[in-house]
Amino acid sequence: MPQRVTRRALLATGVLAGAGAAWTSLSSSWSARFLRARFAELGQQVPPAPHKPAPATWNDNAVTMAWLGPCIGPQAFEQDMAWLAGIVFHELVHSPQYAYYAERGVPQVNPKRSETERLMIALDEYEAYWWSLKRSVELALSSAQQNEIRRRAQYAFIDLDDSTIGSLAQKQQFDAARDELIRRYNAKAGSQVATCRRNLSVCCA
Ligand SMILES: [Zn+2]
Repeated sequence: MPQRVTRRALLATGVLAGAGAAWTSLSSSWSARFLRARFAELGQQVPPAPHKPAPATWNDNAVTMAWLGPCIGPQAFEQDMAWLAGIVFHELVHSPQYAYYAERGVPQVNPKRSETERLMIALDEYEAYWWSLKRSVELALSSAQQNEIRRRAQYAFIDLDDSTIGSLAQKQQFDAARDELIRRYNAKAGSQVATCRRNLSVCCA
């Protein structure tokens, strides 16, 4: 029977404080071990949090939200441990993606800023969902959960409405697709610098 992750269970086991959790220690499933390993990583090479939650002060009659990272919200805890592990796994796929961009001169990806950046986000999402499906057995995702992830992957793929990038992504050549987007990003940034140099007084006003 799937273990439902409740706020009480989280508080009781200290997950929010970053400690090892009884409910993961009890299970030997891959998703539990995966989560336990991630919790073990907490506190390593991570800058101190600007705010520390104080669960003891939270009102039992209200919902208190803690920000655990990008894309992790209340919905991550609405199902079972496999689903939570899947969400954490998805986020972990994003981590080397960001590093890949940063190492190649793309410090920040803002999908509202340019078409290239919008495609970068769609590619990253598609890849993260693709890997989650690829690891669905290890994550112990139910068929309904797999269907949900497949649906989200399809939406991300629809957003990849660029034939070159879309076909590379379809062949799981994610880094090749990323290289092409980074090339476009840098070409545009280069042309902006050139324009800026020509219109120095306008750009730097
Ligand atoms: Zn994501």
